[in-house]
Amino acid sequence: MKTRIALIAHDMKKDDMITLAAQYIDFLRGCHLIATGTTGGRLANELGLTIDRKHSGPFGGDLQIGAHLVDGQVDAVIFLRDPMTPQPHEPDINALVRACDVHNVACATNLSTAHLVLTQLMLAATK
Ligand code: PGA
Repeated sequence: MKTRIALIAHDMKKDDMITLAAQYIDFLRGCHLIATGTTGGRLANELGLTIDRKHSGPFGGDLQIGAHLVDGQVDAVIFLRDPMTPQPHEPDINALVRACDVHNVACATNLSTAHLVLTQLMLAATK
């Protein structure tokens, strides 16, 4: 079965997400990718990845991804949050991170952890 990864980046972190995804592009091409609207659009346009795009985060995209996760359809979340900028959908962000904790799904909220998670998922996929 394909590894199912959710990709979300706040505006100030979107360039980081593109750079990160480019580094793992061969692995990510073989994954089922779900993303919030704008993040997913950039990943599709700039890297040619096939993305199951949900609504933009402030319009409920995080909650849509959370619903998939609760249904057992997400193996890991890469969520590059911006800790320096207040977000109008803070409750949705907290709900998604909480859902990861409730369901014991890996959730990387910064680049260092994202590298660790993606490296491990890549290794697991080759076994
Ligand atoms: P976006 O949503 O990818 O549509 O910008 C991310 C977010 O702000 O949670």
